[in-house]
Amino acid sequence: MKSILLFLLCSFSLLAQQKPNIIFIISDDHTSQAISAYGSKITKTPNIDRIAKSGAILYNNVVSNSICGPSRATLLTGKLSHKNGYKENEKVFNINQPVFPEELQKNGYQTAWVGKMHLGALPNGFDYLNILPGQGHYYNPEFIDKSNTKTRYEGYVSNLVEQFSEEWLGKRDPSKPFFLVVGHKATHRSWLPDLQDLGAYDQVNFPLPANFYDTYEGRIAAADQDMTVDKTMVLREDLKIHANYDAPGNNGLYNRFTPAQKAKFYDYYENKVSKEFDEKKRSGKALVEWKFQRYMRDYLATANSMDRNIGKLLDYLEKTGLSKNTVVVYTSDQGFYLGEHGWFDKRFIYEESLKTPFMISYPGVIKPGTKVQEVISNIDWAPTLLNIAQTKIPSEIQGKSFLPVLTGKVSGWKNESYYHYYEYPQPHHVAPHFGIRTAQYTLVRFYGPLNAWELYDIKKDPANMHNVYQDPAMKSVVAQLKKQLKQQILTYEDDEALKIMDAEK
Ligand code: CA
Repeated sequence: MKSILLFLLCSFSLLAQQKPNIIFIISDDHTSQAISAYGSKITKTPNIDRIAKSGAILYNNVVSNSICGPSRATLLTGKLSHKNGYKENEKVFNINQPVFPEELQKNGYQTAWVGKMHLGALPNGFDYLNILPGQGHYYNPEFIDKSNTKTRYEGYVSNLVEQFSEEWLGKRDPSKPFFLVVGHKATHRSWLPDLQDLGAYDQVNFPLPANFYDTYEGRIAAADQDMTVDKTMVLREDLKIHANYDAPGNNGLYNRFTPAQKAKFYDYYENKVSKEFDEKKRSGKALVEWKFQRYMRDYLATANSMDRNIGKLLDYLEKTGLSKNTVVVYTSDQGFYLGEHGWFDKRFIYEESLKTPFMISYPGVIKPGTKVQEVISNIDWAPTLLNIAQTKIPSEIQGKSFLPVLTGKVSGWKNESYYHYYEYPQPHHVAPHFGIRTAQYTLVRFYGPLNAWELYDIKKDPANMHNVYQDPAMKSVVAQLKKQLKQQILTYEDDEALKIMDAEK
């Protein structure tokens, strides 16, 4: 009897162990153009690339609302912004709604979120939380736990996020599978690299994107924004030109250093960068292009520490043998402009901010080197993770599992994604818009302060420079896409968009 019990117990724990662990690494504003696995020539991300090499890389993973908090709310709920209620940044996530990690918990998973979350509330579904309050800080950040207790730690945020992730992995119950979200603050504005990465890209002269001096013909919303390197990027706060290290203002950005950190930071940004800025007295195009170079240097140097720490985490998984049964995802909450259209920031349905990097390794299931071209949305992330965990997908989730796409066992994937952006006018004056992205086209309707339709042929015009909505040759394409868009609006029950569509007739 005893041996039968023992046998049953062993078989049970073996079965339980067969469910894969999942580590979901989500950074902030880190875009595909800055990842070498996506072919970036301006930088190297050797550790993020390891995930792509050992699994699948997605070339058309798009978000449904290109902004930080709303993207994470969609990750947690598998629902579009109008359904989960989190349409704009800096709001409070409604925690009285189902989130998918609760399903994982019900199915025996331990769940944890470490690092950046930024939802204004602590959602259910996590056994362990050690997260940055709000945007968090790059240097000597506070973290809050499940009971909302705040603790300040000395050090650089990417190192601390990695350290706390490993610590949780070390103390979890090893008899249960786990789901861990690693939320990186990098590469969110304002870009503060780790001390060892200061000046890492000073010898690089970054090529200006071909459309850096975009004049926005045929695109009234693009002409109306406030997010250019030229006019919006601030010399003092963004680029650290004579930053005020002691002022309590600047959101406390530059007054958090230890004396040793401050000395190094000051030595680089004040004695070197600001001094060179003063001496050259640039203006006009020379100044804009210098700002672009500084932006790229700061942004990419900030990513260096994150990539290094992702490498540490992957090494830890290998060292402990966890890598054999652990799915690893790397993604960002959305893409970002690295000077395309003259911009930084995100928000628009245009390609650079619509797409987000996504790679996933799943040993024994996803073939290493898999390249995925299908259009996949961030509403599909939650159901896919539930599918990987062999857990039922609640019917209210609006996305679909794309696990069959990753394993090549799918035909007739939907290949279209719905988009709706809301936040206006602050902080970047981007008009609200909704639209559809298919394998070939983006059709978008701007509304609110201005009214305009735009159509882009992604295959011919991946930079979204030529709005061909009025082109008579596109008439039938427009009609077809409007039909598909209307169908999406009905399926997803977006009443606000429906009213605007219906008012057109
Ligand atoms: Ca973001």
